Amino acid sequence: MQGTDRHKERLLRDRKGRVARKLRVSVTDRCNFACLFCMPEKDKISWIPKEEILSLSETESIVRVLASLGIEKVRITGGEPLLRRDLVELVDDLTSIEGIRSVDMTTNGWHLELRAEALRRAGLRGVTVSLHSLRSDRFAKISGVDALPRVLRGIDRALDVGLNPVKINSVAIRGYNDDEILELIEYARERRISIRFIEFMPLDGLGIWNYDRVVPGKEIIQTVSRVYPLEPKGRGSSETSSIWRFKDGRGDLGLITPMSEPFCDDCDRIRLTADGKLLSCLFDTDYHDLRHIIQNGGTQEALADMILKAVWKKPDGVGYMPWIKEGWAKPRNMNAIGG
Ligand code: SAM
Repeated sequence: MQGTDRHKERLLRDRKGRVARKLRVSVTDRCNFACLFCMPEKDKISWIPKEEILSLSETESIVRVLASLGIEKVRITGGEPLLRRDLVELVDDLTSIEGIRSVDMTTNGWHLELRAEALRRAGLRGVTVSLHSLRSDRFAKISGVDALPRVLRGIDRALDVGLNPVKINSVAIRGYNDDEILELIEYARERRISIRFIEFMPLDGLGIWNYDRVVPGKEIIQTVSRVYPLEPKGRGSSETSSIWRFKDGRGDLGLITPMSEPFCDDCDRIRLTADGKLLSCLFDTDYHDLRHIIQNGGTQEALADMILKAVWKKPDGVGYMPWIKEGWAKPRNMNAIGG
């Protein structure tokens, strides 16, 4: 494909004037965990057929076009991205694309201890590891795998090899781990790593989601500040988390509050699914098939046109979809969208 320069002046602008700068690339919908808030019943999932998963070169072609349209930051996710054997190569490819300033990854941490160093060498900047409990039995119950010690070793390894930033993502779910907020905070503070609490979203496989299970960000702040005084740093423009700094200087805590305080008005994120569908919003039901264009010999211009049109129609966001809080016929679990 040729002609990248022709798109330089074009940006991924939507009807509301938001401009997409960040891309989440799901590299597989498969996962070796079965988190109860994501894809607990693996046997009931209809996986994307392997032959429909984007190849390295297809992913690279799409990201190249997206970079020419203004995407600057890429986060690799899934499913579990570390299940892709060619991930190091993919990181190497993506980091060499003109215009891409950083490539980070979100992972469950299972394969991190083994692969962190190679990924760092390939140019991966930082890693966010999902960690919802520090109690082995509870970790196993939530994630479906008895893996806590191995995940913790993965986090230590990521720090050792110099991935930066290393962050923790915790989904707080009432009745499951909401009594463990302080323990998770202490774990992160000891290592001077940032921890982000994510409000539980109705994108779960078991359908256990209801608003009572959401632990609102404000409640987390109340719980934490009783023990560790906090000061608000605010939410940077287009960032997902609002940040609170520990007054004693030992790091910070982030809250991702799509349910209680949505942050869609300055959203600058779009998503690419493992089978090459562009999704302009996590809650969008409109999938734009970019793989189809590539497979049919479409030009870079054709890809750019479809991407520009898809982003233009980006939904206003979850804050403008009150029905989602009342229960939602979800189009796909989080593993297939790419969290
Ligand atoms: N396998 C990787 C992992 O575990 O981090 C990456 C994919 S996972 C879908 C990405 C993030 O989405 C994780 O931090 C996970 O906890 C979060 N997530 C999954 N389902 C969610 C839900 N229903 N509500 C909120 N966050 C969710």
